[in-house]
Parts: sequence; C-alpha cells; structure tokens
Amino acid sequence: MAAGAPGDHLRDLNPEQRAAVTFGIDESGASRPGPPLLIAAGAGTGKTTTLAHRVAHLVLHGADPRRILLLTFTRRAAEDMTARVRRICSRAFGREIDFGAALAWAGTFHGIAARLLREFARELGISPEFTILDRGDAQDLLDVLREEAGFAGGDRRFPKKALCLEICSFAVNSGRPLGEVLARRFPWCAPYETELRRLFRAYAEAKQRQAVMDYDDLLLGWAEMLACAPLAERLRARFPFVLVDEYQDTNPLQARIVEGLCPDGRGLTAVGDELQAIYGFRAATVRNMLDFRRRFGPEATILPLTTNYRSVTPVLELANAIAADSRESFGRRLIGPRASEERPWLMPVADETDQARRVVELVLDNREAGLHLREQAVLVRSAHHTGLLELELARRRIPYRKYGGLRMLEAAHVKDLLAFLRFAENPRDRLAGFRLLQLLPGVGPAFARKALDRLEALGFDPSGLALLPPPPAARRLWPELVRLLERLGRASDWPSELAAIRAFYDPLAGELYDEIEGRLADLDLLAAAAEASPSRRRFLADLALDPAVGSGLEAGRPVRDEDYLVLSTIHSAKGREWKAVFVLFVIDGWIPSDMATGSAEEIEEERRLFYVAVTRARDQLRLLLPLRCHIHADPRIGDGHVRAAPSRFLTEAIRGCCVRWRQPVAGEREPSPAADAAVLLDLAAELRDRWRS
Ligand code: ATP
Ligand code: MG
Repeated sequence: MAAGAPGDHLRDLNPEQRAAVTFGIDESGASRPGPPLLIAAGAGTGKTTTLAHRVAHLVLHGADPRRILLLTFTRRAAEDMTARVRRICSRAFGREIDFGAALAWAGTFHGIAARLLREFARELGISPEFTILDRGDAQDLLDVLREEAGFAGGDRRFPKKALCLEICSFAVNSGRPLGEVLARRFPWCAPYETELRRLFRAYAEAKQRQAVMDYDDLLLGWAEMLACAPLAERLRARFPFVLVDEYQDTNPLQARIVEGLCPDGRGLTAVGDELQAIYGFRAATVRNMLDFRRRFGPEATILPLTTNYRSVTPVLELANAIAADSRESFGRRLIGPRASEERPWLMPVADETDQARRVVELVLDNREAGLHLREQAVLVRSAHHTGLLELELARRRIPYRKYGGLRMLEAAHVKDLLAFLRFAENPRDRLAGFRLLQLLPGVGPAFARKALDRLEALGFDPSGLALLPPPPAARRLWPELVRLLERLGRASDWPSELAAIRAFYDPLAGELYDEIEGRLADLDLLAAAAEASPSRRRFLADLALDPAVGSGLEAGRPVRDEDYLVLSTIHSAKGREWKAVFVLFVIDGWIPSDMATGSAEEIEEERRLFYVAVTRARDQLRLLLPLRCHIHADPRIGDGHVRAAPSRFLTEAIRGCCVRWRQPVAGEREPSPAADAAVLLDLAAELRDRWRS
C-alpha cells in the first residue's frame, strides 16, 4: 500500500459498498484470489462504482493490473471504468498514475475474445488476420449460402437471412441443440431443421475459408480454448482476477467462459440486477445469477447494496411500482436519500410530430435552466423510433448523438469504406471484396467473382489483377483500383491509408448516392475515430464489435467538451444515467413492442426494459404517449396512422406515481404539469377516421 491514508480510496463509499469492495482481499489478498463474490443489487445502488473500487483496491494491494480481467457490457463502459480506476488509484497514491496499457484487459466479452483468439491463433490453427463480421455481414453471407443451397427459391416460407442468423446465434449462445431451440423458440421453423443444419454448416465452412468470424464464433472460440486443458491453464494463470459487470445479461456460453476461467469461483466477482435482465432474446439468462451459489459452492458469497444514489425518490417510487408488477420482483425495493417534490410526468401528445416538438422544447428549456444537453437523454425501444425527432433536432440545429441500432454503420457508404479496410486487412474476406469491386461502374457479380477467384489463384497478390481485362465501363478506374489495392496490401500505414481510400472512393460515392454531403460528413466522423485508434486491425475490430461512433447530422469531431443531446435505445442505455430522461412512445405496441408480446416471458422482459429506462433518470423523468402513431403505410388502412393506447405497463398504481401534463393553451409559454385528467382520446381523429374506407 502506497502513499495517501490507508483506506482513503474507500472514503466515499457506504459500509455495504465498502464491505463488497474489500471482501476477501487482505494485505496478502492480491496474490491469493479470494472466494467467489456476487453483488446482487438494484439499479443505481453503486454496483459499477463498487466494481471500479474493487479493481482499484486489488491494485492498491499489489495485484498486477495486467492480470485483472474486467468484463463490461460495452466498450464505452470499459473505458469509463478504466478511467475511474485510474482516478481512484491516483488519488490514493497521491500522484497521477497512468494506467494506459496496464489495465489492458478491460473490455467486452467479444472484444477480449477477439484479442485472445488473435494472440493464440497459432495454437488454435487459425489465421491471426481474421476479420470480424458484424450482424449485417453475417446475414449477407448466410443469404448467399441460402441461395446457393437452393433454399431461397421455391419455398417461400424458409426463414429469411435475419431469422437464420437469429436461430444460429441463439443455439450457439444458449448452448442448446438446434432441434430444441427450434421447438422452443422458433416452432414455425422446426420443419426446416435438416436444411438449417446444412446451412449453418455451410456458413461455418464459408467463414473458415474466408478467415472471418462472426460474434458468436468469438465467444465460442474462447470457450473452446478454456475446454482445452493446456490453454485453459495458461489463461487461468494469466487472469487470477475476473470481474464481470451486468452479470444478469450474460448467456450460458458466457457463463461457460467465466466458469472456465474460475472453475472454483476463486478470484471471481460478478455484479448484477435480476430486474434489469433485458437480453433474454439473445439467450441471456438470470439463472447465471440465481444459481451462483449452486455453481460455486458454499464458499460463494452474495452481498447486497441497498441505497440508490442515482434517482430522486419520486422516480424510485415509480420504478418500485413497475417492479411490483413484475412476475419475479424478488421483493426488492429501491430506496434512496435524494428527496424531491417533482414527480415524473406522463405526457399525452397528439402524435409523433407533436412528441418530437414537445421533447425539443423541454430539452431547450432545460438548457436555458443550465442543464447541458449531454445531461439529457431521449430513450426509445427501437432505434428507428427517433426518425421525426432527429428531423426536428436537425431543423433546430441541436447537436445530438445516437447510440444503439447500428444506424450509421449500416449505411451503404460507410459499409463501402469499411469494405476497403477489411479487404486490406484480410483479402480472403470475399464479402468485402465483392462489395468494393462492384462499386466500379460496369462491374457486376459475375466479374467480381471472377476477379476474386483470380486473386485467390494468385496467392492474393493484387498486382495480378492488372492483367484481367475489366468491363468497358470500368476501364478508366480499374488500374487505379489495382494500384490502391497494392498499396493497401503492403504493410498498413495507419491512419493515412484511409486518405488514399477516400481519394479513390469519395468521387465514386458522389456518383452512386444522393445527399452526398451528409454521407461525406459520416465518413469524416469515421476518419476522426480512426485517428484515435492505434491500428487498422483494432479499429475494425472495435467498430464491428461495439460501434461507439454515434451518428448525427450535427455531430462533429468527437471532442471531449462538446455538448450534444443523447438519443439511445433503452438496451444501449444500460448502466448509464442522465439528469433528465425522456422516454418516447410509452404506448402499447411500442413499449411493450408488438414484436415481443408473443409469450409471457417476452412481456416480462419488456417490462424490465421499461424499468431500465425509468431507472436511468436522476432528476427529471418524462414519459411520452402519442395518441396517434404512424405505422407502415398500408393503403387498406388509410394514411398509415393508428390510434394508440397507453402502454399496458401504465397501471393505476404507476399513473399514481406521475403527474399528468396537459397541453399548453395557445399563447401560454411554459408547458406545465397539472393535475387535470390526461388526454386519453383524440376525439377529432376518432370522428374523422370512422369514415375512412
Ligand atoms: P445500474 O444498475 O444502472 O448499472 P449501478 O448499481 O451500477 O447502476 P452506479 O452507476 O455505480 O450504480 O451508481 C449510480 C450513481 O450513484 C452514480 O452517479 C454514482 O456516482 C452514485 N453513487 C454510488 N455510490 C455512491 C455513494 N456511496 N455515495 C454517493 N453517490 C454514490
Ligand atoms: Mg452499473
């Protein structure tokens, strides 16, 4: 233990948190991993804070930070956590400590898996140059194989690419046999079990030929390493301390990894909240928490944290009311010291346009009152629910960042640019090659395939492509492309190679797409993110795994003190907090989503999602209820609008925790909460719509 008063770093913690931080770590504790510890506690009670302090406590007691494995749910969370540990340790040591590379093993399960697989590639007999397929790429590859196998043509009911990937992924992550997964979760696909099995096999083979891995391969690869005794031995020796945040959202495959790393649980610390389990649809299971003691034996200790420091009490009351409706409420209630008079607002608004306008007004009012934009967040169930709001923000020139929903990375121009980088990194990656070749005028699938075959025959030396006669329309650009590929094929000169790619690609994009300015702005944003990344490989891996680059029309370079409103899916808001939180579309079909109301379990997961949303708010919580909503235009039901009903989760008890906001009368400036009855019916629309044919 170094300078600073002993235990100083624990000063800001309460006794429960302190007990959890120091549990099993005595003066010599850092060389002897302690018994397994699970911190099971409610939202905002300081689980993540406690975990960060525990890491610091280990380091301050002599643990080597390079041997601490810290698993978080997002890359951003890992970065935050590293910064916090550095601050805590620096304070305790009385001088600035640069952890830079030291706490190097903080990351997501997928990110850490990718690094370990590369490091051990030789032992695993795989290429260390593998590239990572994001979900979109994985679907595209499955689609190609589906067609090749003849499953796509005749039988129109054969699952589409997205569903194929979902089934494949669920089977891998849940560790259950395909037949069982189909019978339980996708019964309507059960008749295709044989075909799906063939497809998944072809998919695995294609990925291996192309030296690419999808997300699930990364986890599976790590789990398999741990099933191989000599490798497992090395990994366990390297990481005597394993700490996992958001444990309630780990799946059986991740649990296998954790158990592989800590077979008897020693050295393991997990924190989680069963009421915030929201990834069941990806095979996560709270059983990992509930069975903690059964798995790790009587030594395993479960500690609670009971004080919520995040939210004012009216928000906690609302959260408790939601939890009380949950089938498995665990009888836990959130209590906290932050009293406030201000109850959450329930805000019925006319429609989506009105919703966008109201939210922007309130956000601006808050800013006037001194609340930075970045202290405010708008949360939605699905990424595409922010459409009109984004337009309104752009119109009013309010900068924002969007998290969740890979919107920017799904955009064609971004995928194009990344295809160059991926192909440079791994010329076996046919999907990337296929995409970039077809950017040239006149080049279609047949020629692209021919060029890729030729390249493979030449041992991936792009200079050989110069001799391949291109289609007439591509004649001018072909030699230029070959030169670019040659340059990229040499050692990576990161990040300047990106400029060379853009010199070639930007003019092409101008011909391929409209609205080119916005697209080039996206590419600038990507280039700025590239500057901050140490290598091409790391950049690609980070983007594929956890796209931290937000999209936004006004979003400039990611500068630290820049102010922007946060737009996020509820899933991506996990673990975060803001002073003001607006939850959009608290109406049935949106929350809960009608994509997830098939079974009672799905509805419970949606309820927990709602719970996660409201527990993000520190001071202000606003729930918006548009009375009319746009659904996909279907000529049979008029203009595509439907009347919306308030979310089924808004029970009487929950409404009782809120104040009802009423529409301001014309001329009245400030929207004000009032105890009047809420507008629950859009009568004008009702009267109009009954005459629609
Ligand atoms: P979630 O369930 O959302 O992941 P959590 O349990 O991880 O939440 P934290 O994010 O660690 O909770 O903490 C919530 C808030 O409470 C943070 O703003 C944190 O700084 C604050 N906090 C935690 N512990 C204390 C404490 N002992 N005193 C004052 N504030 C605290
Ligand atoms: Mg947390």
